[in-house]
Amino acid sequence: MKQLIAANWKMNGHPDWASKVRQLAKLVPAPSAEILICPPHLILDTLSAAADETSIAIGAQDCSEFSAGAHTGESDAALLAEIGASYVILGHSERRAAGETDARVKAKAGRAIEQGLRPIICVGESLAQREAGSAVSVVGAQLQASLPDGGEFDIAYEPIWAIGTGKTATVTDIAEMHTAIRDMVGETPRILYGGSVKPANAQEILGIMNVGGALVGGASLEMESFATIVQAAH
Ligand code: PGA
Repeated sequence: MKQLIAANWKMNGHPDWASKVRQLAKLVPAPSAEILICPPHLILDTLSAAADETSIAIGAQDCSEFSAGAHTGESDAALLAEIGASYVILGHSERRAAGETDARVKAKAGRAIEQGLRPIICVGESLAQREAGSAVSVVGAQLQASLPDGGEFDIAYEPIWAIGTGKTATVTDIAEMHTAIRDMVGETPRILYGGSVKPANAQEILGIMNVGGALVGGASLEMESFATIVQAAH
C-alpha cells in the first residue's frame, strides 16, 4: 500500500483555504503517496469540492459513535461521508486529553467503518510514561482497547511529547515502536508516525521500516512545506 501523508489542520482554517487544496494539487500533480487533508468539519464540504478531480482525499478530525439524535454538537459519520470525507482521525491525544476513552474510540471506529469512512486511530505515550520505560505497554493497551473489531483502518503513533513541540522521536525510538505495533496488529494497517514531522526530517522518518506515512500538524498549514513532505514519501 502507498504511504499516507495526512494533514491535521486542527482548529485552523477558513473557507478561503480551498485555495490551499488547489495549490497543493499543482505542487504535487502526480504524488507517489496518498494525500489527505483533515480540515475543521465546518469547511469540509468546501474543501471536498476543491479536491474534486485531484488525487487529494479529505477527512474529518473526529466523529460521533452514535447514528442520530440527542447529541448536541456532535458530528455524524454518515453526514461527514455524505459531504465528502473518506477518512476520520480518531483518538487524537488532544481529544484523549479532553476525556476521550479507548472504549469510545473503538465505538467511533466501528460506526465510521460502517458508514464508509476509514479511521486513523491515534495512540501514543506521554513523556512520563516513556521515561518510566512503559511506552510500548501503554501503546499496546491503547491499541487493544481502541481498535475496531474488523474493517479497514490505519494507525498513527504520536508520542504526546513530540506533538507541536518541535521534538521528534529518534529514528531508533520510532523504529522500535513501529515494529512493536506491527507485531501486535499484523501486516495490514498502515502505521503512520506523527509529532513534529517537517520538511527537514520527513525523508528520514518516512524511510524507517514499518512507517506507513505521517500525520502532520503544524507543517501541514503551509502548502510548500506539506508538499515537500509528500514528495519525501513513497
Ligand atoms: P505536529 O502535530 O505535527 O504539529 O506536531 C501532529 C498532530 O498533532 O497530529
